[in-house]
Amino acid sequence: MIAANIDKIKQQIGMGVQLIAVSKTKPVPMLMEAYQAGQRAFGENKVQELLAKQAEMPADVEWHLIGHLQSNKVKPIAPFVYLIHSVDGFKLLEVINKEAHKNNRVINCLLQIFIADEETKFGLSEAEAKELIHSAAFEQLTNIKIVGLMGMATNTDDETKITAEFKGLKIFFDRLKEHRSTNFELSILSMGMSSDYMLAVEAESNMVRVGSSIFGTR
Ligand SMILES: *Cc1c(COP(=O)(O)O)cnc(C)c1O
Repeated sequence: MIAANIDKIKQQIGMGVQLIAVSKTKPVPMLMEAYQAGQRAFGENKVQELLAKQAEMPADVEWHLIGHLQSNKVKPIAPFVYLIHSVDGFKLLEVINKEAHKNNRVINCLLQIFIADEETKFGLSEAEAKELIHSAAFEQLTNIKIVGLMGMATNTDDETKITAEFKGLKIFFDRLKEHRSTNFELSILSMGMSSDYMLAVEAESNMVRVGSSIFGTR
């Protein structure tokens, strides 16, 4: 079942789009089923749960933190986290940088951009993102690298609205891409989940985060 779901989604999204299997709330045996089907990139939204699963899963899994991250939760994931999708402020970035430095590594991050018209979704506005990356303090962060942007569309059946939000983020992504520094080089546009990943791919997302369409409803 899980293997067939992954195959189907991969066919739909095509070769140029990376699939992150969002395994939150699902037990390790289900993750192992995905692993045995060749899946290596897994997404979790809670640090405790990510740590527990990381301890049980094979070492070559790439762990993606996709949910809101509190500064005081960065330390335990810093040694191994593959990509943090949900950076939404300078203070958090500073903490990630500090913990990455302690671990002698660079942690790749995405800036989460607020594109939905809902109050519950975290993220930076486009103006805030621009201000952040152009600040002098940002340049000093040598143990993080911003490699892309992440966005979540409004939870609605209105496909026109979802598409407009995704396309808006793609335009911002292309504009921001022109800015380059040692710790900033955009290549990843993470948008799309079970309900809207095909709309995201049509809007040129190159990384989709899919949970329930792989593992079943939560
Ligand atoms: C849960 C979650 C997903 C996946 O949601 P599904 O609808 O199950 O595909 C994607 N992105 C984030 C940030 C999430 O928290």
